[in-house]
Amino acid sequence: MNERYLGKTVLVTGAASGIGRAIACAAAREGARLILGDIRHDRLADTAAELRSEGAAAYHARCDVSNTAEVEKLVNRGSDLLGAIDVAFANAGVLGTLGDVWTYSEDEFTKILDINITGTWRTIRAVLPRMIERRRGVIVATASAAGVIGPAGLPAYVASKHAVVGLVKSTAMNVAPDGIRVNALCPHLVDTPMLDTITNENPALRESLGRQTPLGRIATSEEVARSALWLGSDESSFVTGHSLLVDGGLVAQ
Ligand code: NAD
Repeated sequence: MNERYLGKTVLVTGAASGIGRAIACAAAREGARLILGDIRHDRLADTAAELRSEGAAAYHARCDVSNTAEVEKLVNRGSDLLGAIDVAFANAGVLGTLGDVWTYSEDEFTKILDINITGTWRTIRAVLPRMIERRRGVIVATASAAGVIGPAGLPAYVASKHAVVGLVKSTAMNVAPDGIRVNALCPHLVDTPMLDTITNENPALRESLGRQTPLGRIATSEEVARSALWLGSDESSFVTGHSLLVDGGLVAQ
């Protein structure tokens, strides 16, 4: 078993479900102490209880990344209890509704940007001062293949994920002199509740979407978490400002 996270304090937002939950579980198995946030407090409590039952130290709190006070509270209280954050996974995100650019609801557009891009920035802003003080730290923001290509029908999501990729580059340049690395994880079609919102849990549709990737399938959240953990670990010590596609070859076509 790898022990890349032994003794490290790791923050994960959107940790109650899908990719965030898989990152938290994988980091815990490699020795991390976990600070977990999500709007779904009930499911988050289940994740935290499971990790504790396996011997990991975990602090969890309701945290809506569109709420500055909740983000700061999670980061500050979590680090007081479990130590300064070594690795932050800014992962929380929403897909939003499908729609055309010209008929898209302004409320929906603004809400998605507030969670996906401003929420990512709020998380990064909250963790950076202590990382800069300690001159160490790694940030991994979950963007998407939709942060690199622009499929129709998800204008706010695509715009927000392109913005996450841009924010990651700018932040990486900003804090490289402080020894802090910042990268984006860009998955595509991962078997999580978010994908269920598009496929309505329709296995035939999921399969046909999967066939559109060169590897011919959708990803599991565990294999995406493995790429996230690599980005967050010392194994990627010379990688910063990068967007790592975990997309079964989609964008290379
Ligand atoms: P998911 O819906 O299973 O998990 C997302 C989690 O984020 C949920 O637990 C949800 O409660 C939480 N969340 C939603 N809004 C929040 C908010 N305002 N504050 C805090 N937490 C909030 O979806 P997932 O697939 O695991 O998504 C995780 C990340 O991966 C997202 O950023 C998503 O955009 C990205 N992503 C997913 C896919 C995919 O195919 N599933 C592909 C590319 C990128």
